[in-house]
Amino acid sequence: MAEMTDISEFESPLYRTALVQLDRVAARLDLESNIHERLRHPRRALVVSIPVRMDDGNTKVFRGYRVQHSTVLGPTKGGLRYDADVNLGEVTALAMLMSWKCALAGLPYGGAKGGVRCNPRAMSVTERENLTRRYTVEIMLVIGPDHDIPAPDLGTDEQTMAWMMDTYSMTQGKTVPGIVTGKPLIVGGSAGRREATGRGIVYALYQAARHLSQPLRGQRVVVQGFGNVGSVAARLLWREGCVISGVGDVKGGIVNPHGIDIRQLEAHVAEAGTVAGFPGTEPVSNAELLEQPCDILVPAAIGSQIREDNADRIKATIVAEGANGPTTPEADAILRDRGVTVIPDILANAGGVIVSYFEWVQGLQYYFWRESEITTRLQEIMTRAFNRVWALGAKEGTDLRTAALMEGVRRVAEGYRVRGLYP
Ligand code: GLU
Repeated sequence: MAEMTDISEFESPLYRTALVQLDRVAARLDLESNIHERLRHPRRALVVSIPVRMDDGNTKVFRGYRVQHSTVLGPTKGGLRYDADVNLGEVTALAMLMSWKCALAGLPYGGAKGGVRCNPRAMSVTERENLTRRYTVEIMLVIGPDHDIPAPDLGTDEQTMAWMMDTYSMTQGKTVPGIVTGKPLIVGGSAGRREATGRGIVYALYQAARHLSQPLRGQRVVVQGFGNVGSVAARLLWREGCVISGVGDVKGGIVNPHGIDIRQLEAHVAEAGTVAGFPGTEPVSNAELLEQPCDILVPAAIGSQIREDNADRIKATIVAEGANGPTTPEADAILRDRGVTVIPDILANAGGVIVSYFEWVQGLQYYFWRESEITTRLQEIMTRAFNRVWALGAKEGTDLRTAALMEGVRRVAEGYRVRGLYP
């Protein structure tokens, strides 16, 4: 292989992991080194400073990023995260993962990601609005409804998208719904977008259960994270007849081996702001939660939760990754050796970006679909992607993560191959 170009600007654990995964898959696919080298680098990475007037009258400057990994299959797509750990390398790695995720689902997009280093929970609504509006203006150079389309991710939500859409639209003198996805319904959001990631996880689990000949009903499930992804996955799995034996959020976890009533838990969360303290459950730490006896574990919180030091103690036989990058490569190897079926992030949580694609298409056409149309199409795409990955894994004798990456990387590489190099 020819010598690879230096990537030190993007140094971070997650970027390293993303490269190790890519290099391994490139070798398996026997990828030409010219294309492999291009895939290792983002196409563009924008770093911005975001001055924000805080409630106390002082101005604070935040660091923000928007990274576009590949534009070969179409405009770029990916979420925006507000988190204290955001850095250029992490955002770049997540943009790369979005490229594989979109390609695997067959969407006409390249991958992108945005991030602002901040603690959104410590900020007022006004401060978050000011931050979002100024960030939008700063990245206006590189986003657009046919360039790069942001969406929610960790620490951002529908309201964040409404502010972004409004800010962008004001500068254009007209409303531009296609600039973001994950918007509130009233301003061009899609039916079913809020539930999409959690629902997609359930569709992936239907298929996993089918291939493993174990019905979903009656399976004991632990869900880490009770935000947009975890809460919906927990509710839908509970409705499918699963026993939700543990749930956690940023403030702590709760367990009950006989099952938690998710409807009542949602009412408790609406009042208390956390799952902690829900009557009839025992409190556990987030670390203990992951190690609870169960059949299915859904890590749907943040990255690097299943690591070398706890992978041995994971009891689940299926792990469905709702979060991006919840399992480190070392832990992945341990789970693989122990025969645990890991449904990787780029497959398990693809429901979000799939319905984002539907929202974008609907917005461009000003023609909106019923929720039943959305969920039917979502299920079709998730099922097709899952079964393709399962079959490839069986054919190649690999785990599902390797198979999913092979399929995603292969498609992006094919795009580069047919388009060629400009000039
Ligand atoms: N943030 C989500 C993800 O990581 C959704 C991205 C999107 O809808 O564009 O897949």
